[in-house]
Amino acid sequence: RHLAVYVSRFTGHGMPGAVVVIDDTTDVRQAERMRQDFVANASHELKTPLAVIKSSVETLIDGAAEDPEARAAFLDQVAREADRLADLIKDMLSLARIESGALGLEPRVVKLDKAITDCMERHHPRADTKTLTLVEKPPADAPADVAAWADPDALRQVMDNLVDNAIKYTPNGGRITVRWGATADTVSFEVEDTGVGIPEADVNRVFERFYRVDKARDRAQGSTGLGLSIVKHLLQAMRGQVRVNSKLGKGTTFRVTLPRAGSA
Ligand code: ADP
Repeated sequence: RHLAVYVSRFTGHGMPGAVVVIDDTTDVRQAERMRQDFVANASHELKTPLAVIKSSVETLIDGAAEDPEARAAFLDQVAREADRLADLIKDMLSLARIESGALGLEPRVVKLDKAITDCMERHHPRADTKTLTLVEKPPADAPADVAAWADPDALRQVMDNLVDNAIKYTPNGGRITVRWGATADTVSFEVEDTGVGIPEADVNRVFERFYRVDKARDRAQGSTGLGLSIVKHLLQAMRGQVRVNSKLGKGTTFRVTLPRAGSA
């Protein structure tokens, strides 16, 4: 542990003396280190797309703009990296708002089946472009109309993130299954894919900010490494949790649990 020792001398009533304060600063130091890591990671992540934009623009200025093919390719790169910068900034602001508690989550009754069907509908077009099958599995042993006690927007963000990842990391022709169910006081849903899976050594780190299993591969997929960190924080703010199970080359399952509406 890290102890800070403060000594202040004083002379009162003509008597010399000293006060010694011993403070345990372990948590403070850890928080400070996390903040420094975040700033270092964030600047690195922001600098990369900026560097690509800068060099593409310089190449265009140096003459590549004269050639229609090269011009199209470099402009396309500028547009892609600008989108990436926008995604990063959006995710970073989102995380900062959640962490500072400034998000103002308003939990209410949210029907899980409706939320899941809506989420699937939003993702069908993208799944179709990869010929992925999206399957909804209503609970066999609980009423199909179970409701969570959650902020609807935050819940949507959690679901979208998980289904989005499942689509990103599942090769063409795969299957994504969303199941849900309930116990007396919780509801849960899981997003299972038949995708690339996560190596055992990385599986517990995917919720860390900026963590990506394969930086080059995942970056090409448009990954910022912040999505799952946002998922985890949103769920914590709603008294829920998320767990992951994965087998490399076979697939991954994310399981979310939330308080059940009316059980409090
Ligand atoms: P992003 O939102 O940028 O994709 P995440 O925080 O959501 O970043 O994910 C972190 C990393 O976890 C990803 O870069 C990827 O390596 C891994 N990952 C997340 N979901 C899956 C999945 N369904 N299958 C395999 N790997 C995944």
